[in-house]
Amino acid sequence: MDGVDEVRIAETSERRELPIVAVASGKGGVGKSTLATNIAVALALAGRKVGIVDADIYGPSQPTLLGCDETRPEARDKKLVPVECRHGIGLLSMGQLVKPGQAIAWRGPMAGNALTQLVDAHWGATELLIADMPPGTGDVQLSMIQRHKPVGAVIVSTPQDLALIDARRAIALFEQAGVPIIGLVENMAGYACPHCGEISDPFGSGGVERAAQEIGVAFLGRIPLSLGVREASDGGEPPAGSENDLAQPFRDIAGRVAR
Ligand code: ADP
Repeated sequence: MDGVDEVRIAETSERRELPIVAVASGKGGVGKSTLATNIAVALALAGRKVGIVDADIYGPSQPTLLGCDETRPEARDKKLVPVECRHGIGLLSMGQLVKPGQAIAWRGPMAGNALTQLVDAHWGATELLIADMPPGTGDVQLSMIQRHKPVGAVIVSTPQDLALIDARRAIALFEQAGVPIIGLVENMAGYACPHCGEISDPFGSGGVERAAQEIGVAFLGRIPLSLGVREASDGGEPPAGSENDLAQPFRDIAGRVAR
């Protein structure tokens, strides 16, 4: 490690009164970004001052999910100022800094430095940062863990075995680095047919809770596979902020993540 990195780490640890909760998954497409957004929204609605760092450097989706993809963050004293999005949630994301559709093709060190720009920003009165992690166990995850030291990690998985195998890898990465696992969330279990109401389980059900028991970590809750979640999320209206049934599972999980 060269001197520059050591200085950065020292600076980061001085700044580190602002706790970070990492929301992570072993693979993409399991609902990690959706969960990160909705935990933040539920906490914001409960009166907490939360921000989101979109650590998914190569595939940022938080600007869309939080309905604020039109605004670019400003810089003050060479540091970024988070954009205030839905429910007063501050956001910093690569998606705000590159053109829509532009490929982000960086090697690990550049991505790690980009992450530091997002984390080490003017977070002001923010009391908790939710980090939407990239999927898997790569360079950006290591940068987050080593430089920015999350206080805990929430791991989301769909219930089928293939996703769970990767989720276990993500858990191992955090545990080996000394980051406590706050718990596991099962997403996309139990699809209620909008026509007949019959519940089916395209990806199985209960697998994540069983895995949590086996590994010895908390099970934080289950979010059903629902057209409403997908439509609200893609429309930039996080379901945790709605007045219908979609909000409750997210609010329950958020309450277990940050009491
Ligand atoms: P990841 O961050 O793990 O790649 P996303 O949060 O981006 O996953 O979710 C992938 C897609 O699945 C998105 O279109 C999202 O709206 C959808 N999705 C996530 N969770 C659910 C759910 N519980 N029900 C329906 N669609 C969901």
